Amino acid sequence: MSFQKPKGTVDILPSEVKTWQKIEGTARRVFSQYGYQGIRTPMFESYDVFVRSVGDTSDIVTKEMYDFEDKGGRRITLRPEGTAGVVRAYNENKLYGPEFPKPYKVYYMGPMFRYERPQSGRQREFHQIGVEALNSESPQVDVEVIDMALNLFKNYGVSNVKLVINSLGNDATRDSYRQALIDYLKPFYEKLSPDSQERLYKNPLRVLDSKDETDQKIVEKAPSILDYLDDYSSKYFEDVKRLLDELGIKYEVDSSMVRGLDYYTHTIFEIMSDSKAFGGKYTTVCAGGRYNGLMKELGGPEGGGIGFGLGVERLILLMQQENPDFSDETGLDVFITSADDKGNDLAFKLMHDLRMQGLKVDKDYEGVKLSTQIKEANRQNAKYYIVLGSNEVQSGKVTVNKFDSDEEINTSIDELKSNAVQLLK
Ligand code: ATP
Ligand code: MG
Repeated sequence: MSFQKPKGTVDILPSEVKTWQKIEGTARRVFSQYGYQGIRTPMFESYDVFVRSVGDTSDIVTKEMYDFEDKGGRRITLRPEGTAGVVRAYNENKLYGPEFPKPYKVYYMGPMFRYERPQSGRQREFHQIGVEALNSESPQVDVEVIDMALNLFKNYGVSNVKLVINSLGNDATRDSYRQALIDYLKPFYEKLSPDSQERLYKNPLRVLDSKDETDQKIVEKAPSILDYLDDYSSKYFEDVKRLLDELGIKYEVDSSMVRGLDYYTHTIFEIMSDSKAFGGKYTTVCAGGRYNGLMKELGGPEGGGIGFGLGVERLILLMQQENPDFSDETGLDVFITSADDKGNDLAFKLMHDLRMQGLKVDKDYEGVKLSTQIKEANRQNAKYYIVLGSNEVQSGKVTVNKFDSDEEINTSIDELKSNAVQLLK
């Protein structure tokens, strides 16, 4: 019998994990520069958490969620995105109390699950790195989040990206825009995709986000939501744009961008690339926005929030194209080879001592011939190799050889046991 991974999942093997870890490490470093701390919430939540937040007419909820009843009869959903769980945790742990900062800044990284048709950059289990700045409402926070996302791309060595922004305003904006949009779309009803027909009266904004080509043609001439912003929303959006300008951040405004999740208000944004990695077609790698009603919707107090999610698989596709040398390539400090059984015993003990000093050390375990061991040392990118045999065991003296130079360090086992870090600098 043979077994295969489930459709839409991938095995990330050690050679790639190096890149993943560097990507994650870089994100942690950049996020901490901006005052963000890590948070880890469950991989699954109650179904209601997502229906309440992501929205019951969204693609995610209607088609893509892994949801099931557990053995206790609870309706459980594997998280399709990170924000809802973080806001649920924020509320449940009362992190809005006076002893906590505002905004409350957190980041997460981990797997998300969506039942989609797998293709390049689209999987059923995929990974996001995301941030949330909770319980505050200020254009500066919006711009800080966007600035941080772009800074992250800079740290990944990817410059071929563009920032696209829009504003969805507040509830009043949505109410007045909703009717205008329905009025515009009604005459095209017969031509709309079945999904869009279904959503036209339930949630017409969803039609703007349709992936159907005919739908996309129709919505091209739809009224702009920006014409329906009330004074507060309009001023808020102007402030966001002004602050972006002040930081020298370039952006495009796309008034037809709405995003796939219902909870967004005011500022939304996407970081896109038309790199060869995506066949030259603009593809979204990082997306986010403000969600001022969400804390309350999930049972917490009134309070705004903003965040983004970055798709790690898509980022890696992009980086393979734009910055292929990015990885955490650090080899061994020392590889210990042995010429005979006595040397092998000593090698095992010396390896332990060197590791206790914090060095990265490995040895041969297979008893292959010396030249093969040295080749292996080279393959593992070792800086140094040591040959141990009966002579070294008897004399206590050893030679440490440096790869890619003729340099040799003549020393002793005792010296290595006590002082290897200094010796092998
Ligand atoms: P799309 O329009 O491509 O379906 P989305 O609007 O559903 O994207 P978001 O929910 O905003 O995506 O998620 C943010 C990011 O997560 C995306 O920009 C993308 O990089 C990544 N992402 C989303 N769904 C998947 C998936 N199924 N596989 C891999 N990455 C994904
Ligand atoms: Mg999607």
